Amino acid sequence: QKNQVLDVNDDSYDVVKVDLNDGRDYPIYIGTSFTNEQISDMLTSHIDGKQVLIITNDRIAPLGYLDKYEKLLAPHKDVHTLVLPDGEANKNLEILQLILDKALEEKLDRKCTFIALGGGVIGDMVGFAAAVYQRGVNFVQIPTTVMAMTDSSVGGKTGVNHPLGKNMIGAFHQPQCVVIDTDSLKTLPDRELQSGIAEVIKYGLIRDSALFEWLESNMDKLLERDPVATRYAVKRSCENKAEVVKADEKEAGVRATLNLGHTFGHAIESGSGYGKWLHGEAVAIGTAMATTMSAELGWIDSDLVERTYRLFEKANLPLELPLDSPMNREIFLNYMAADKKVANGQLRLILLKGPLGNCVFTGEFDREAMVNTIDEFV
Ligand code: NAD
Ligand code: MG
Repeated sequence: QKNQVLDVNDDSYDVVKVDLNDGRDYPIYIGTSFTNEQISDMLTSHIDGKQVLIITNDRIAPLGYLDKYEKLLAPHKDVHTLVLPDGEANKNLEILQLILDKALEEKLDRKCTFIALGGGVIGDMVGFAAAVYQRGVNFVQIPTTVMAMTDSSVGGKTGVNHPLGKNMIGAFHQPQCVVIDTDSLKTLPDRELQSGIAEVIKYGLIRDSALFEWLESNMDKLLERDPVATRYAVKRSCENKAEVVKADEKEAGVRATLNLGHTFGHAIESGSGYGKWLHGEAVAIGTAMATTMSAELGWIDSDLVERTYRLFEKANLPLELPLDSPMNREIFLNYMAADKKVANGQLRLILLKGPLGNCVFTGEFDREAMVNTIDEFV
């Protein structure tokens, strides 16, 4: 009975199903304080072969998570582990090669499973390694950041950065399952927690006004890592992402709306040098820009701009570039021209339009409004 979604016979955890239309579907298990037995059942029911390679980084490994999962799987599987150097700067082809080297050295075959234990960097890299190792092997995501739990572990986008652009090398490769234990957020630094919340706010803005309103009254609980609030935010985020991915797995249209604030944000990340901003922080500033531009176009009320700013502020996220930022109009426009959403030379953006919870993905906008917005922020 491999790859059956486990029954939830109590409310100790939630299951969100990612349904990919053609039979490829997988569960996201979301819980707080799973028992060892629950985790080991989840993992073993979604791991086919005998060989497993758990990949994490040198910041997460000393926190005990690697040990825990290695011990849980050891009675059932032939478990190998690999610890990579931490950081977005290491999300590249050279470090990815270390995963492939290890898999070959250990003679892992096509039935093996890679397990990504970590944040979005580990998840994206391990997923891509799984996509290319022997033309594709199974993988499982165990996300340990808010960013990874609410966004990057769901939906099958995998890849690494290139010096000329973020996430420019990659593949679509869906995991066998995702296991989210919100307990692991206890060790996550505040700044990383807040960065992940930027993506949760994003779901509210683009398609889920009820989530946005819930965030307006529950942000304090999220920041305090209240387990009930955290589990709710993670679950709603996964449901939103799963619905969008089901509608448009390969990003022909609506999936692009998940990139609200990301075109400006990626320019800020790349233009400021990797490491200056966390992804969610850059997205927060980028979303402030997209919201400002939407209002400038007359597509949303200024009230929505205010509410958006207030919510990001509550989450301690940045809304503007500091005075010493290297970003200027040219740098913005150059990086934005390299965006993956450029089609036939035309830049397309996700902008808010209409009441809270509505957005558009379009190249039909007044370019002057975009340039004015950039000028306001630099
Ligand atoms: P990250 O993976 O770098 O993790 C942030 C930091 O927290 C790292 O130093 C990490 O080692 C550390 N960490 C992770 N878990 C921890 C824990 N439980 N306790 C203490 N420290 C912990 O960054 P991220 O924000 O998780 O992910 C960002 C990356 O995800 C970017 O590369 C982005 O492009 C990618 N991403 C991908 C998708 C997608 O759809 N594939 C979506 C969103 C973001
Ligand atoms: Mg993102």
